[in-house]
Parts: sequence; C-alpha cells; structure tokens
Amino acid sequence: MKKTMRILAVMSLIVWGQLVHAQITAAPDRKEGQGPYKQLIIRGVTLINGTGAPPLGPVDIVIEQNKIQRIVTVGAEGNPIQSARRPVLAAGGQEIDATGLFALPGFIDMHAHIGGKEQGTPAEYVYKLWLAHGITTVRDPSTGNGLEWVLNEKKRSAANQIVAPRIFAYTAFGMGAKKPINTPSDAIEWVNENAKNGADGIKFFGAAPDIMEAAIKENKRLGLRSCAHHAQTDVARWNVVQSAKAGMTSMEHWYGLPEALFENKTIQDFPADYNYTNEQTRFEHAGKLWKQAAAPYSEKWNKVMNDLISMDFTLVPTFNIYDANRDLQRARRAEWHETYTLPSLWRFFAPSRNAHGSYWFNWGTEQEIEWKQNYRLWMTFINEYKNRGGRVTTGSDNGFIYQTYGFGFIRELELLREAGFHPLEVIRSATLYGAQALGIEKDLGTIEQGKLADIVLVNANPLKNLQVLYGTGAIELNAKGEAIRTGGVQYTIKDGIVYDAKLLLKQVKQIVDEAKTKENFKITQPGIE
Ligand SMILES: [Zn+2]
Repeated sequence: MKKTMRILAVMSLIVWGQLVHAQITAAPDRKEGQGPYKQLIIRGVTLINGTGAPPLGPVDIVIEQNKIQRIVTVGAEGNPIQSARRPVLAAGGQEIDATGLFALPGFIDMHAHIGGKEQGTPAEYVYKLWLAHGITTVRDPSTGNGLEWVLNEKKRSAANQIVAPRIFAYTAFGMGAKKPINTPSDAIEWVNENAKNGADGIKFFGAAPDIMEAAIKENKRLGLRSCAHHAQTDVARWNVVQSAKAGMTSMEHWYGLPEALFENKTIQDFPADYNYTNEQTRFEHAGKLWKQAAAPYSEKWNKVMNDLISMDFTLVPTFNIYDANRDLQRARRAEWHETYTLPSLWRFFAPSRNAHGSYWFNWGTEQEIEWKQNYRLWMTFINEYKNRGGRVTTGSDNGFIYQTYGFGFIRELELLREAGFHPLEVIRSATLYGAQALGIEKDLGTIEQGKLADIVLVNANPLKNLQVLYGTGAIELNAKGEAIRTGGVQYTIKDGIVYDAKLLLKQVKQIVDEAKTKENFKITQPGIE
C-alpha cells in the first residue's frame, strides 16, 4: 500500500510536474508601449484579417483608443495611394506608415504555460518573447504558478499595467482542493469552488470515469470551458470521445485521440518493461501509437472525426512540442538558443532522468523515424479535421523539449502548414479559431470594424514564408548578394498599445546576457568542448 502510494506520488509529480512548485517572479510594472491613442491610423498596410479572406491593400486602419473603428481601402496594388480616400488624422492623432507591411490579428497561443521554477523563467522573459512573436492572448492550461498568481497577472495585463498578452486561466483539475476528490460530488464541489475563484476553465489530465463525467458536466453547466491532456495513466478508461460527449470543449496534444481510434484493441501496445515514470519509454512508445489506430479514411476514423466535429470540439495539437522527437538535433541546435534561451531553461532542456520532457537517455535514429511516421498519420487526421469544418487551433506548450517561448509558437504555424493547411488557414487557426475556442470572438480574433485593436505588423509576407514571423526572421540574399535577415514582427499592438517588438526582443536578450554573465554560462553540447 505504502509502496503503491509512493509510486502514485511519483507518477503525479511527473504528469503534474509543472503544477506543484513555487511561483516565478511576476512581471514588473510596464515601462514599454505607446498608447492607447485617441486616434491611431495604420497607413497603407496590406491586411490579412484572419477570417480566411485573402490579403487586401493598401488599407488604412483607424483605431480609437483600443477599438478598430474603420478599415478603408486607399488604392490598388502598385498604384499611387488615392489621397482623397484616406481618413483624416484627428487633432492629437498618431500615424504609423505601414507601407510594405502586413497586418494580422494578434495571435492566440492556446497552450501557454507562463514558465516555472524548474525553467527558471521570470514572467517578464516569457511575456516579452510572446509579444515579440505577435502573441496577444494566451491560455494558461493548468495555471502552474497557482490560480491566484495567474489571476493576478491576468488582471494586471487586462489593465495594461504589465507588458503581457491577455491571459485565460484553466486550472488543473483538483488543484488547491481542500480535500481529496474521491467521488463525483467531491468533484462537483471543487468545480464550483474553481468557478467562484474566477478561473476561466479547467484542464484535466484524467481521473476515474464517474469523476471526469461529473466534473466536465458541472463545469459546462456553469458556463466554463475545459480541456484535457488525456494522460496514459487514465486513457484506457476515458478518452477524447468520452470527454467531448460529457461537454469538454478542447483536447491538448494528441493524447487520447489515437486511443479513441483503436479498432482491434482497447489498450495501447505497451511492452512488458514499459514504465510511465521512465520518460524515454513513455515518449518512445507514444511514437508508435498512431499506427495502432484506425487507418486514415477508414469507417472508424471517419466516425470519430465526424462525431467530434458535430460536438464543436476544438483540437490543440501542439505539434511543435514533439518536434524534437523526430529530429532532436534540429530542435537542440535551433539558431535562437544562443541569444534567447535563458541558461536555466537550457539546463532544464538538457538530458535528464528527472526533468519533464528531457528524455534523451539514448534517443536516436530508430525513435526519430518512428516519430516521423507517427506525425504523418497524426497530421493526416488534423488536416482532414480542418477540411471537414472542424476547429484546429495553435498551442505551443513552450518551455519544454527545446522549445523556447514564442519561437515554438511560430514553429507550430509551420507544422500546421506541413500538415496541409493553406497559409491563410494557418493564420485563421492562430487567430479567429483561437478566439472562438476561448469564447471571445465577438471582440478578438480578426481585424474587423468594432473589434479590439490586437494587431501584428510584419515587414514581409508571412503567407510566402511563415519563418519571417520568427524573432530572428528569415535569411534572404539581397541584390548585392549579401545574406540578410527579413521579417521578425515589427510592432505588436495589444489593446491599442503599440509595442516595438524588436525592442522587446532586445530586452529579452539583455535578460539572457545578464544571466549568462552572472553564471559564466555558455551553451555547450553534451560531450563536445
Ligand atoms: Zn502543457
């Protein structure tokens, strides 16, 4: 009994690894950002509005305080601006000359942990990386720094007292419970407390079926949303389809989906020496999961997909967070690590038998090939889900597995593209669909008259190359034959406040430089001088 208890405790530490530790340093008071303005006109920009509409421009976007008032087409491509059509600048108004720039709605990161003690990331570092990559809204799934802490940051962000995206808090199920949750009525009690405490929703990892059902239903009855990482420890008895039927609104990662697609079994093909606390085993065998599921376009595959779509169920695949599984060296040597990855975060990423997501015991060709095949099947499902009208959104889960905040989110956009999404479908997933999944589409998610002014301005066309959205931009040869950097978000506007995205990145670099100097730290690769 005692031994079982200890095993369970270790297990929950790993599943709930990001939940059980002390808080990180909250963001300092805001010093950056200009506005909101009585009037702000973004002049001559090419608009990608997030609805799926093609680019249109040049347009002038008129913002008053934090609201988009008007969008006016002021010419045709390649022709001189028709000055007479231009909205007149009001007294005291401000302008941004956005000739040659592209405007997109602020991005929504649906799976955004605000760092933790293990990562050693002050909130300021995380928030500035997010905003520098155009992310103006995040959903914190599991409120790892505690619900109270996150709600406080949410309030300060809403009042623009700190430099941070809008925050939505989904508490980890059972977090802060005054007593153990052993029965459906215990669950209902906790769900009500959570709502009363001001959470926006719940993130589940799994529990007994009667408890899952009661909690999800009660949460829905209260008008809150929910999501789940259907952990291997409970998925045999409760998978994604059961969650959706009970009223859950979104699923995270892939967990629980291939399991819902099993045809000739009900439990994943675990080898006898599998042990969930051994993360190499856990992730290695996860890479063999999709091939155990019903084949693409088979009857079962179609039925599960159509059922989930009919329940308006949102998918948050977080492809990027498993990218290292299919090419560890790529993720480990990404060019931004040297400049933008904090020493403490780098150490957390390094191979370890204890840190969550650092399962590089002997990860090699065999594991990577399995994961490449795994992605093909997984991506086929996600792309077709979108093709049939299902909602797929963008979540990064960054701060684990060599994915640095912000950069990993842009990688997520690239991976949706790889799955088969048109670049405009990628942008819609990152904006409008995220807003719908959070229930905020009336105010956010697109650049339209009447909506809040959350806008990303970038100096290159992201539809041609999503990589221009990375803080480090994309490499291009100029006319002189020199390799130059293009892109990187120029300005991120949140709530009508204009942030110089490049300045935010510079400040992140300073935070990293200071930590490096203090610790005499340099990124090295294991066993290489
Ligand atoms: Zn996560």
